[in-house]
Amino acid sequence: MEFDLIELIRQRTAQPRDDVRLGIGDDAAVVAVPSGQELAVAIDTLVEGVHFPRGTAAADIGWKALAVNLSDLAAMGASPAWALLSLTLPYADRVFVEGFVEGFAQLAQSHRLALVGGDTTRGPLAISVAVHGFVPPGKALTRAGARIGDAVLVTGTLGDAAAGLQVLQQPAQHDDGQNSLREFLIGRLNRPTPRLAAGIALRDQAHACVDISDGLLADLGHICAASGVGAEIDAALLPRSSALLGLYDDGAALQFALSGGDDYELCFCVPASRLAQVQADLARLGGGATRIGRIVAGEGVRVRGHDGAWLDTTSSGWEHFA
Ligand code: ADP
Ligand code: MG
Repeated sequence: MEFDLIELIRQRTAQPRDDVRLGIGDDAAVVAVPSGQELAVAIDTLVEGVHFPRGTAAADIGWKALAVNLSDLAAMGASPAWALLSLTLPYADRVFVEGFVEGFAQLAQSHRLALVGGDTTRGPLAISVAVHGFVPPGKALTRAGARIGDAVLVTGTLGDAAAGLQVLQQPAQHDDGQNSLREFLIGRLNRPTPRLAAGIALRDQAHACVDISDGLLADLGHICAASGVGAEIDAALLPRSSALLGLYDDGAALQFALSGGDDYELCFCVPASRLAQVQADLARLGGGATRIGRIVAGEGVRVRGHDGAWLDTTSSGWEHFA
C-alpha cells in the first residue's frame, strides 16, 4: 500500500540530475555536492488547520510545502538541488497523493529540483519538506550584516496572502465583479512564488536578507536583531497589489502588509550606492523590488504613517483592528 504511494511519488517527481547517485528506493539517498560549493539546508513543516486551512486543494498543498522551503533557500542566495519529503497521511489516500505530487512536481521541475527520498507515515495530515541547495563558499546571505544607511527593499507585493486567508474565511461573497481580485489573493496564499532568482542575484549585493513568512515587521525585526541595528519603514512606500487595495481599505491593507504572514517575498538590505543597480537587476528578472525604508542606529522596526507620525507598532505586529 505505502509502497504504491512511494512508487507513484517517485514516478511523478522524476527529475534527472547527474549529482543524484542514488534517489528514492534505497535506505538513503546518495548525492554529490559539487566541489567548491557549500550546502544550504532547510526544513519546514505544514500541518493541516495550522499552516493551511482544511479543504485546501492537494495540489496547492504540494506546491506550498515545497515553496516555503525554496523561499528559505532564496533568502540565503542558494540555488536548489535536492529535497526530502515526509508525508503523514490519515490513510493511504491515493487521490490526495496524486494531487499533492502534481503541485509539488510543477514547482520542483521548474527549478530542476530532484526529490531524492522521504518517509511516509500514518497520522493527522502533515507534510515536512527538507531542501538542499548550493551556494559559493562564504556567499550565503544571512540576517546579520545590515549596516546603518542601507536601503531596505522587498520583492513583489506584501499582505496578499494574509488577505487571501481572510477572504477564504469569510462567507461566500456574491459581488462577481470582485471575484478575480479574491482569486488573486487566494492564489498568493496557496501558491507563493519563491524568489530564487532574486536571491541568487543578491549574493554579491545585499548585506542581509530574510524571507517574509511571519510578516514584514517580524521578519525585518529578525534582520535588525541579528545585525544590531534598527529600521525605519515608510507605510506609503509598501508595495501593495491592486487586488489588496481593491478589496480592503487603506488601514486594513496596511495591516496585512506589515503583519500578515505567508507572503514569501524577500526583504533585504543593500548599500544606498547599489540601490539603482539592484533594482534594475531584479526588475529584469521579473517581479522587481521596492525600497521601503532604511537601516538606522538603534534597534527594532519603526513605521512612519501617511501623516508622518510613527505608528504604534509592537514587535509582534501592528493591530489595525485592535
Ligand atoms: P526505510 O524503512 O528504509 O526508511 P521506507 O519504506 O521508509 O524505507 O522508504 C523506502 C524508500 O522510499 C526510501 O528511499 C525513502 O527515501 C523513499 N520514500 C519513502 N517515503 C517517501 C516520500 N513520501 N517521498 C519520497 N520518497 C519517499
Ligand atoms: Mg523510512
